[in-house]
Amino acid sequence: MTSGAFVGPDVPALPDLQNCIHCGFCLPVCPTYIATGQELESPRGRLHLIRAALDGRAEASGRLLAHLDLCLQCRACETACPSNVPYGRIVEDARAATMARGVRARPRSWSMRALTLRQVIARPRVLRPAFALLRLYGRSGVQRLVRGPLARLLPGRLREAEAQAPAPSGRPFRRSGVLTAPEQRRGRVAFLTGCVHGELYPSMHEATVRVLARLGFEVVAPLAQACCGALHSHGGDVEAARDLARRNIAAFDDAGEGAGVDAGEGAGIDAVIVNAAGCGAAMKEYGRLLRNDVEWRDRAERFATSVRDVLEFVAGQDFAAGLGALDINVTLQDACHLAHAQGIRDAPREILRAIPGLRLHEMATPDRCCGSAGFYSVAQPEMSRTVLGAKMADVESTGATVIATANPGCTLQLENGVRGSELLAGRAAVQHVIELLDASYRAGG
Ligand code: SF4
Ligand code: SF4
Repeated sequence: MTSGAFVGPDVPALPDLQNCIHCGFCLPVCPTYIATGQELESPRGRLHLIRAALDGRAEASGRLLAHLDLCLQCRACETACPSNVPYGRIVEDARAATMARGVRARPRSWSMRALTLRQVIARPRVLRPAFALLRLYGRSGVQRLVRGPLARLLPGRLREAEAQAPAPSGRPFRRSGVLTAPEQRRGRVAFLTGCVHGELYPSMHEATVRVLARLGFEVVAPLAQACCGALHSHGGDVEAARDLARRNIAAFDDAGEGAGVDAGEGAGIDAVIVNAAGCGAAMKEYGRLLRNDVEWRDRAERFATSVRDVLEFVAGQDFAAGLGALDINVTLQDACHLAHAQGIRDAPREILRAIPGLRLHEMATPDRCCGSAGFYSVAQPEMSRTVLGAKMADVESTGATVIATANPGCTLQLENGVRGSELLAGRAAVQHVIELLDASYRAGG
């Protein structure tokens, strides 16, 4: 399909763009507009550029891509918009339909990103050894030297990149099959273990499985599952995202078989549980991602309705019995893809407020992006740092020493923020809400 300057199956839909009434309510919540004050780095400005390209009044060029690439895809603008403009999908489509023309005017870091996504993130056989090397780098003490006495010898950009490198700890979570089978089974759920998540933050997965087991759910993790494809989709590589979506739908449907309930797709599974907000948001949109695939679209729609963020799922259960006290001061960072993309704000707060002794101190703007945004912190380090700086100032003003999150990308970014904060370095920790709930259960015996 061709429309204006865009080509391919993902040309943005004109009715979506026509919803914009140019009111500008989205501007004050947009981190890139706040940072630059430039209309073209605001949601309204980007929509204007996309509409011009759609109408054929402007080229879908490298210049357009540059403005789209500076967007964090945090979707705060969608929450603020009184006209329900589906900004996230318009930008994803515009990016894909520009790249379908062969436009590749991105800096080299974006090409590296595409290569990394296809050849490393989506391939466990490459990803796992890469993380093993990172683990060795951290444990051997070399990282401490590089971040300490040797830091001034490194060129600036390399030093910045190294400072953002993850420091995986503990044994990676690579389990599959039946993870827990409680005696008093109330239900059965399937669990997305994801690509990077289990390598980087195995403790989040362990805590998730323990909490679900405590609530009486058998947890299964299909061996054939794959990366959710969110980062591919955001980057405009929608074909790779579609391949991953098909693999996941098939894998999770198979996980339902043999559960002894109904036959058929997803049989016996109460929900597909995801503990990474970005992955959950992407999987809830598989129906749209595969909308042009006649063979898969109905199955994708059905699958999408079974996906639940773990906090959304737990808050819907009778979870408050047996909680022990945690004497901590906590602030909650609303993951963008939980609050803005999935509309889930109450569940994490409900869980945190139920924990005895835990004091929740809200930030002024808890749902403002932290600047992580998948690969954004690597591809757009300057803007990412600016956005993180504002976030850390907000965190510091709360007096909390635990930052609760619901997404591993936010955890990684906020850990970097804590390391760089004079007030919080060495004093504060970043934890998933589910880890705090798990710690409370353990404190309660
Ligand atoms: S998604 Fe976030 S960064 Fe992008 S335009 Fe909307 S508010 Fe701004
Ligand atoms: S708030 Fe919505 S309608 Fe108003 S300018 Fe932004 S996108 Fe357009």
